[in-house]
Amino acid sequence: MAESELVIIGAGVGGYVAAIRAAQLGLAVTLVERRPTLGGTCLNVGCIPSKALLESSELYAGLRGGLDEHGIGVGEVRLDLARLMQRKEAIVRQLTEGLAGLMKKNRVTVLAGQGRLDGPGRVRVEPLPGDPAGAAGRQLPAAAVVLATGSEPVPLPFLPFDGERVVSSTEALAFDQVPGRLIVIGAGAVGLELGSVWRRLGAQVTVVELLPRLLPWADRQVASALERALKPQGIELRLATRVTGARLVGAEVLVSLQGPKGEVAELAADRVLVAVGRRPCTAGLGLETVGIVPDAGGRVPVDADLQTTAPGVYAIGDLVAGPMLAHKASHEGVAVAERIAGQPGRSEPAPIPNVVYTHPELAAVGLTEEEARERGLTVKIGRSLFRGNGRALTLGQVEGLVKVVAEVGTNRLLGVHLVGPRASDLIAEAAVALAHGVTVDGLAAVVHAHPTLAEALHEAVLDVDKRAIHA
Ligand code: FAD
Repeated sequence: MAESELVIIGAGVGGYVAAIRAAQLGLAVTLVERRPTLGGTCLNVGCIPSKALLESSELYAGLRGGLDEHGIGVGEVRLDLARLMQRKEAIVRQLTEGLAGLMKKNRVTVLAGQGRLDGPGRVRVEPLPGDPAGAAGRQLPAAAVVLATGSEPVPLPFLPFDGERVVSSTEALAFDQVPGRLIVIGAGAVGLELGSVWRRLGAQVTVVELLPRLLPWADRQVASALERALKPQGIELRLATRVTGARLVGAEVLVSLQGPKGEVAELAADRVLVAVGRRPCTAGLGLETVGIVPDAGGRVPVDADLQTTAPGVYAIGDLVAGPMLAHKASHEGVAVAERIAGQPGRSEPAPIPNVVYTHPELAAVGLTEEEARERGLTVKIGRSLFRGNGRALTLGQVEGLVKVVAEVGTNRLLGVHLVGPRASDLIAEAAVALAHGVTVDGLAAVVHAHPTLAEALHEAVLDVDKRAIHA
């Protein structure tokens, strides 16, 4: 086979974006993927299906809660879980099939198979089990290789996944019945989002977290506000609690816990979702054939240009350092394609927003107050509550706040943290401001439409210098 200018292993949101961008820049690209569909974790078993379930479950819970306040009477509200899951699957199908079309349009060659490095400048593609007609043992010479194999859920050592009672997020996106009792181990984004889905659909949900707080990367005050909002939804949060063991007894899982004061307890559940983190997929990737040594966390070390220690081999997305987020993987996909095509390297990396799609949503970009202080920066803080925002009132979603962290003296915006309605959309304005070094005065001078939720961000920016109008 003729040498490809670029072979990409893994067609997730990192790999497929790199493929399209490289093709746009005129490179001959081959994309190797072992799943039957393109789009990786995000489209198949991550971002998209979870958001589909969050939307359906929020509607269901909202209708069950009643719309009396709006003067709207609702009859009996029924749950058809199979139909709800079909909707989710249709959305996933539409997106993944759309990607296949995009690859054709951009003349990216897609090979089904398990890819691995096979020494400098070579990728080997093994056929998938049961697919002898696939990419049978092909070797692809490649001028450049991008590793984009993503990550997989980590089991607890004493509680391996069985796909039935002890599950990862993948199975928790596709339960065929609402579990009576669900224990979620891990209060990160995945645990809180899927815990919310099943709670809204009727499960009794207990979230167990080793740390004394939710979302350790989030601003403390904002994370506490989310914690307060989740409790009345009936999600039991057991923080500072260690899972010390588990037993499968009959149809139940008995989970042993040790609480903050050393007290022990055993909780019974029908299903346990282990959401304690994800690890990079490097097994069988042939890293040793080009001398790449993963770091202590199993990630592939890369330089500022996303190049590994092996010449011509790059890595992106969940496989490399940084938050395991889809948009970070895609951003790196574009950057690596441009670099390989000979464009200048990346300048200062852009700040990466982070969103948790609970109700209310939590979103953040830039430094938290704690991080800024740890870095020796002198900070000033602005806040505004959604309770004082007209649009939030009309939506009936007044929980939450916006918090702005800025630097004294330079007036630089350092971070924006929100918990509240449509935080996932509001954070985009803050991300633009941070990426372009907009100051507090710069953002304060922007005219915001009324009545909008974005006015809450504007008020928090004004509050930094104590000039908020509605405070
Ligand atoms: P992946 O998307 O994991 O893609 C890697 C691809 O490589 C996979 O298709 C895999 O099959 C393939 N592959 C692996 N090894 C090989 C091999 N040897 N040969 C061939 N192919 C191979 N992020 C967000 O930003 N927002 C969210 O709302 C969000 N929600 C999430 C919800 C859940 C439940 C989960 C699990 C994750 C969520 N994420 C979210 C994280 C997001 O999915 C990942 O950060 C993102 O998918 C990483 O992209 P990637 O391209 O690095 O890897």
